Amino acid sequence: MPQSAEKILDHAPLFREPEYQDLFKRKREAFECPASSSDVEVQRQYAKGWEYREKNLAREALVVNPAKACQPLGAVFAAAGFEKTLSFVHGSQGCVAYYRSHLSRHFKEPASAVSSSMTEDAAVFGGLNNMVDGLANAYSLYAPKMIAVSTTCMAEVIGDDLHAFIETAKTKGSVPMEFDVPFAHTPAFVGSHVDGYDNMIKGILEHFWKGKERQPNASINIIPGFDGFCVGNNRELKRLLDLMGVSYTLIQDAADQYDTPSDGEFRMFSGGTTLEQAAKALDAKATLSLQKYCTPKTLEYCAVQGQDTVAFHYPLGVAGTDELLFKISELTGAAIPDAITLERGRLVDAMADSQSWLHGKKYAVYGDPDFVYGMSRFLMETGGEPIHCLATNGTKQWQEEMQALLASSPFGRDGKVWAGKDLWHMRSLLFTEPVDFLIGNSYGKYLERDTGTPLIRFAFPIFDRHHHHRFPLWGYQGGLRVLTTLLDKIFDKLDQETNAPSKTDYSFDLTR
Ligand code: SF4
Repeated sequence: MPQSAEKILDHAPLFREPEYQDLFKRKREAFECPASSSDVEVQRQYAKGWEYREKNLAREALVVNPAKACQPLGAVFAAAGFEKTLSFVHGSQGCVAYYRSHLSRHFKEPASAVSSSMTEDAAVFGGLNNMVDGLANAYSLYAPKMIAVSTTCMAEVIGDDLHAFIETAKTKGSVPMEFDVPFAHTPAFVGSHVDGYDNMIKGILEHFWKGKERQPNASINIIPGFDGFCVGNNRELKRLLDLMGVSYTLIQDAADQYDTPSDGEFRMFSGGTTLEQAAKALDAKATLSLQKYCTPKTLEYCAVQGQDTVAFHYPLGVAGTDELLFKISELTGAAIPDAITLERGRLVDAMADSQSWLHGKKYAVYGDPDFVYGMSRFLMETGGEPIHCLATNGTKQWQEEMQALLASSPFGRDGKVWAGKDLWHMRSLLFTEPVDFLIGNSYGKYLERDTGTPLIRFAFPIFDRHHHHRFPLWGYQGGLRVLTTLLDKIFDKLDQETNAPSKTDYSFDLTR
């Protein structure tokens, strides 16, 4: 064998060893009904053209490489933003392994969540016993302060009633009667992780607010939304709010949960909105959502309680940050201090410094609806042109908002919006209408290799690069970081394309 205890090979070189190559060859011949290489190549070339693009875009019954995840993943992320809260997903175990794996591979941190481990018998007779035993085990083994329950497809298909199940489990003594067990039904076969986030936040607020009388105060609530950059973004947001001296509650803050230090102590739980804060948030004057499409039901619920509600689209770039800070200032009466105004000026200065390199660059952007909106807006601020704007979980309303955004700038003139499309659609778009850069998550790697479009990773999940999430995208400082990343890619590409000695290696920004 190519490796032994003395010589452990990493998976990249390991699978290039002759034994594995031979195994792959035999597998292909025996199981994969291979077409000839020339037939594959003919098909590959055809799939790059306009005719295939039209067929591809007309596709209805199949999704290939979607830029979204299922509802419970969003619910598990949402629950991680509350103090000592354990996610309990009622359904099958493999699904929960997928959420944990996704979150921990992205954040490079342990991501705790338990499952009620439903199997065939529970699928036939219902999962009540799994809930009763599971809650008891989770409570006694992990000592959480709150258990947030969501569901996988399996529990939803058979119609398990979470409210009734949790009440029954409490009467059977799984957890104390007064123990906090908010829940959200998160059917994975509709919507996406942003809906799961919304359902879980609403479930938690309902749990704490139901039947309570609101005593309005001057504070504001801020809901960040599902965000793979929450570690950097939430901390940056809090820094700005503290500079303004605003009284606020961040509802759902997973920054510390997904960024625990290595100091010899394992922290299963860290940071998060305290349960007391979540309960008191009912009294706030207003609730602001930083991602409109992550919170429609939650904001509606807040409005019914009598709060003002405002929704933003991922506060990135100059206008995105302006809009958020001006609104906070208006709602709270807090002035925007000079320190923040200076940061704004520095971002504008940096954008102007690099204008000649940024102007006219063409981009394809995909990800969650608010991210695509915020990123496209910033790209246009830099003089860039968002040509393909795609959100698999984008709605018709999002499509219309995006079209209005693109129409508001000359840089959006050639932009098109693709709601409900996947990354195989994006492949056709990139081959038929090429752009300079692709902005999205790690799954864009295949597109980068296939189409030759350099990928810039700004969206969840990012597996194949490390620690990006520790630095903010939001605010003026975040804008500076996004700007720098764009420019690095622009210059890297320029260097690669001008690497022929005495032919193309001229005109660099190098002086002596
Ligand atoms: S889509 Fe359904 S089966 Fe698949 S991971 Fe999500 S909950 Fe599980």
